[in-house]
Amino acid sequence: RAKAEGRSTVRFFEPSMQAESEARLALEADLREALQTGQFRLYLQPQCDPLGRVVGAEALLRWQHPKRGWVPPAAFIWLAESSGLIDDIGQWVLGEATQWLARCDELGVPLRIAVNISPRQFMQPDFPQRVRQTLAHSGADAGRLVLEITENVLLHDPAQAAARMIELKALGVRFSIDDFGTGYSSLAYLKRLPLSEIKIDRSFIAGLPDDSNDAALTKAILLLAQEMELEVVAEGVETESQLEWLRTHGCRTIQGYLLGRPEPAGDLIERLQRASTDPAPARAPAASP
Ligand code: C2E
Ligand code: MG
Ligand code: MG
Ligand code: MG
Repeated sequence: RAKAEGRSTVRFFEPSMQAESEARLALEADLREALQTGQFRLYLQPQCDPLGRVVGAEALLRWQHPKRGWVPPAAFIWLAESSGLIDDIGQWVLGEATQWLARCDELGVPLRIAVNISPRQFMQPDFPQRVRQTLAHSGADAGRLVLEITENVLLHDPAQAAARMIELKALGVRFSIDDFGTGYSSLAYLKRLPLSEIKIDRSFIAGLPDDSNDAALTKAILLLAQEMELEVVAEGVETESQLEWLRTHGCRTIQGYLLGRPEPAGDLIERLQRASTDPAPARAPAASP
């Protein structure tokens, strides 16, 4: 309504500001309740090698609210971050992910799980301690846990962020830079930080193979990663032609709707376990490399 009135008066702006802050408070209260009453679900989206085998998965948070229905992360992660709730929510995700990792180990499913870590969560003084305890509690192999951070984490206090990464790296966990190429930080950090992987942002993949700018940028990122001995995951791969282009240009790990949507963690892991023990797999086995 305030919009329809145009920008004529402040009078119409204020009620909308108030409505906004009320909506925000209500959402924050709901988030708190979601944690307490177990409304969060851990979903996994597969990451595949060039033969289509699932080698890893990204943990993606899902919120099933009794009245709001499914609320996408884009609608609440920002609020969790600004209200501080992300510390507990993020810890919940980490706990779930490491328990699934331990389960994979029991089942003989060689999966890596990547967990998104928000900047605030990452910079909490006790974060490394919590990761260590969570790993120990679950019995998961640290080498199978990937922490996805964004370039933004490095903006505020690069030296402290680097020290923190080195501390965590000593536990055996791996680091991936999410949404690579979309942040504002310089590339200098690539040579200083203990990184294992970068994820090419979906916005670059979207234009492949026809958009020459996206193709040029993606090629440059792939080359950079190769020279610096970093693994690369392409995210948001939706079409066969994108997949083909990425394969041709040497991208070895693919994530996107084309290969699998996010699904309840147990569903993916069960399917992988069945596939690994089934003597006659439903899908034709991929040719050997
Ligand atoms: P992200 O980490 O970059 O995750 C990738 C997003 O792209 C996911 O959205 C995923 O569902 C979506 N996606 C994957 N493949 C495709 C595709 O082929 N096409 C399209 N159009 N989208 C695809 P989602 O699950 O809605 O999550 C959005 C963002 O919310 C994530 O972006 C991440 O920044 C944040 N997020 C999700 N879970 C968590 C969490 O547990 N902790 C934190 N801190 N952030 C999270
Ligand atoms: Mg991510
Ligand atoms: Mg991403
Ligand atoms: Mg992204």
